[in-house]
This record gives sequence, structure tokens and C-alpha cells, in this order.
Amino acid sequence: MHPHIWHPYTQAKTAPLPLKVKSAKGVWLELEDGRKVIDCISSWWVNLHGHSHPIIAEAIYQQAQRLEQVIFAGFTHEPAEKLAEQLVARLSGRFNRVFFSDNGSTAVEVALKMAYQYWVNQQQKRTTFIAFEGAYHGDTFGAMSVGARSLFSDAFSDWLTAVEFLPFPNTYIGDTQVEEKETQAIAKLESLLAKNPDRYAGIIIEPLVQGAGGMRMGRPEFLQQLRRVADQFNTLLIFDEVMTGFGRTGDWFACTKAQVEPDIICLSKGLTGGFLPFAVTVCSEAIYEAFYSDDPLKTLYHGHSYTANPLGCAAALASLELMMENESVFRTMELKHLGHFQALQNHPKLTNLRVTGTIAAMDIVTEDQPNYLNHIAAEIRQRSIEQGLLLRPLGNVLYLMPPYCITDEELAEIYQGIQTIL
Ligand SMILES: *Cc1c(COP(=O)(O)O)cnc(C)c1O
Repeated sequence: MHPHIWHPYTQAKTAPLPLKVKSAKGVWLELEDGRKVIDCISSWWVNLHGHSHPIIAEAIYQQAQRLEQVIFAGFTHEPAEKLAEQLVARLSGRFNRVFFSDNGSTAVEVALKMAYQYWVNQQQKRTTFIAFEGAYHGDTFGAMSVGARSLFSDAFSDWLTAVEFLPFPNTYIGDTQVEEKETQAIAKLESLLAKNPDRYAGIIIEPLVQGAGGMRMGRPEFLQQLRRVADQFNTLLIFDEVMTGFGRTGDWFACTKAQVEPDIICLSKGLTGGFLPFAVTVCSEAIYEAFYSDDPLKTLYHGHSYTANPLGCAAALASLELMMENESVFRTMELKHLGHFQALQNHPKLTNLRVTGTIAAMDIVTEDQPNYLNHIAAEIRQRSIEQGLLLRPLGNVLYLMPPYCITDEELAEIYQGIQTIL
């Protein structure tokens, strides 16, 4: 380990040495020792169009020469205005206001604060949120509170606020029980809301795919039911699309795919195509209006030094343009994954195969506890590098989330590599 670096999610004492990356192009990482590795997981789910994409690089370069950064309170700039307009147009429906920040956890924090204060500003004290078992919303305290309690949050449990958790009705190919699971989750939601209708500021969910919790996939129908119940009991619905946004589910957003409009949506990972840390929390005009007042106490007192950084905006605008040009790629990747599933579906070491858009996942049959610390994860990481693949299983969950520029040959190479690793 480097004497001065502290790596994320890493126990330095037992972890293997990090691999040094020299450069990257398209789906390929080039290591310092000359080895080449396919980035099968888009570098923690952020990269969309391939690494070092010249169009995004050029957009950042051009912007950096004009305006690299300016305070965003009392000032504004064209890249932010353009990006807000484009996001609102893409999301459509009730979304109308864009709040900028710079990472997914913060986008979630902002959503929670918006929802909480939305009620405070209407003289209502709604003290808690409803979230889902297996959820991951980030590593800041609010985001940890609405995430599943896990070894990630154990040390901080005294500092986490009380949240009600519903079972997440996850499904996979061949699942016959999904409707029953959905019905149970909705019944529990209705009973919570019926018992204490004024207690909940909102419901927060990772729509269609729970990411870090193990690429657990759900159905659009369930989100439609959530919307119905949230309306019925007058509470807010928050979609954390930090991972699912920007084409990952095979449509522009999980909400557009499911045709469900939440009240607040959080976006980050793919926003700049994977070039710069950036995030937005987008809300309906109704929420914005609850803050619009002569009373200074009704202000959303939240902001960051780099709010709406012009370089981030420029990268995001370039990435959105590339998405429009390559829309067919993220729309058709699901079929390609399914094609490769043919060869894996009867593999004795695999179960619960599932795919949503560009994300494919499967559970590895293991005798150990199927959690994040499962030894199989480290073993697969090691073996995949030997195969020239960057795979990083979540416990016993093996998943693929490649950049959209991947060719059919490269995708076939990944699936071939998985066979070998298994
Ligand atoms: C990654 C992720 C976050 C946190 O984003 P960071 O940029 O890592 O802080 C929040 N929600 C979801 C669904 C995520 O996948």
C-alpha cells in the first residue's frame, strides 16, 4: 500500500495491493505493468460511453478555458441553465427544479432534507421515512439511516435515525412468487401509513434495481403501486436513481421505464458519463413552492462549495448528447445479456439469473453466508483479473454493468471469461 493513501471500502491490512492503472480507453483499462483489463462494471457504475471519451474530454477542456468555477449563490451560468433545462425535459412530468451537488450520497441527503422540510414548512412534523430492506443510499448519515443496516453502518448505529423498512420484492428469471412478495410489501406499507398517517415524510427506494445490496431487481408494477399508495396517504415518493439513471435500466431513467413519477429524484453516477463527481436532486414544482416564501425560515439552507460546477455541467451536457446519439445501445443491451444467459442458465454454480437493461446479475451458489464478506468475492476478483476482466462481486452476487460502447465481441469475451472463472 502507498504510505499516504487510505482506500475506500478497503481493509488495508488484508487487502491485496491495488492495481495501478496507467490509462484507459473505451472499455479497456491499461495497467502499469502493461496488462489490459475490460472494465465490466463501468468503474463503480459511473462510466457510460467508455473511458477517456474524446468528446467529453474536449467539452471539459473548452469549458475550463472559459469558466472553471464560480459561486452559485447569487450567480448563475449558462452550462447550469442548459443542463437543468435538458434534465427537466428528459425527465418530463412533474419534475421542474434541479438542485446541484457533487456525489450520490449528497443527492440523497438533499432529497431527504427537501422532503423533511417540505412538511416543516407546512407546520407538520413528520419525523421519519419509509425505506427498503437491502437498500443502499450512500455513506453520509442521512443516507446511511435510510439504507439497510449492515456491516457498513454497524459502527455508527447510535447515530442513525429510526426508519421503517419494508421488504423489497426482488425477482429473477423464473420467479413465480413475485406478485405475492409485492402484495406483502404493499400491505405492510399501507398498514404503517394507515396507523400513523402524519408520521412519514416520504418513501425512498432504488427503483427497479437495488445496487450495492446485491443487484436485486424489482418490477415496474411495484413502483406503480407505491405511487398509488403514496398518493392515497399523502406522502412523498423519492426515487434514488443514482445508479439506475442515464440508461442503465434500458430506458433513460427507471422512472420513465416504469412510467411512474416520484416527487423527488436523485441522480449522480452516470451524470457526467463518469468523468467528474457531480449530482442533482430534481423535484416537482409543488415541493419547490413549499419553500418559496417571504419567510427566511422556509429556505432550503443547503449548498456546497462546488455547487453546479461548470466543468461538471459541461461534461453532463456532452454525455447527454452522446446518450441521444447512442440510445439504441442502452435500449438493446438487455437482449444481448439474455442471449448470453442461454449458456449460463443451467450452470450448477449459478442461480437467480436476472437482467434489467444494461445490468445483468446472478448469484453464485455457495455454502458460506451469502453476504458482502463472502470469501468467494475476493476469489472471483482475483481470478477475473487473471482473465483480463474487472469484476467486483457483491458477496456472492456476480454482476455486469458495462459501458455502452462495449462491442458484441467484448461482451462475448466477458461471458466466456465468467465460464472459465466458474
Ligand atoms: C452509489 C450510490 C449512492 C451513493 O453515491 P456516491 O456517489 O457513492 O456517494 C447512492 N445511492 C445509490 C443507489 C447508489 O448506487
